Amino acid sequence: MRLQGSQKRNDRLIKEKRKDTYRTYTAAPEPSLCKNCGAVYMNGHWTWNEVKDGTYKTLCPACKRMEDKYPAGYIEIKGEFYNEHTNEISNLIRNTEKLEKNERPLERIMSMKIERGRAIVTTTGIHIARRIGEALNRSYQGLFSFQYGDGDKSIRVQWER
Ligand SMILES: [Zn+2]
Repeated sequence: MRLQGSQKRNDRLIKEKRKDTYRTYTAAPEPSLCKNCGAVYMNGHWTWNEVKDGTYKTLCPACKRMEDKYPAGYIEIKGEFYNEHTNEISNLIRNTEKLEKNERPLERIMSMKIERGRAIVTTTGIHIARRIGEALNRSYQGLFSFQYGDGDKSIRVQWER
């Protein structure tokens, strides 16, 4: 029993450390440029602004999550209707990402695993996951639900039809 307790405490410490790792603000000088995706940290926000060469280089929280394979959003899609409209639904998901990423550089799809009868999509942010669920619900109705976890730092979305 004692061992279990200390195990739990360790898990919590790791989680808290991770949350801090993916914070959206940074101590880096402004502007700084993500060396991987080109997002720019400026005036306390990540943007797609252009900056001159010689800017401080860093890794944005979204690229850091991708590198660590540690998603913030997890979407499960399933059902007969999904099976019959897999391509159409995948396109809707990709288009939703385009719009979201344009507004919020840290909100991206991390991976899309498409199987027969089920798809799992992971994301770097919580907003995009919810927005994808809402887009599916708006376009095709079905059953849509979501739960926040981890002090609102993560989200699980389900859509079924
Ligand atoms: Zn980046």
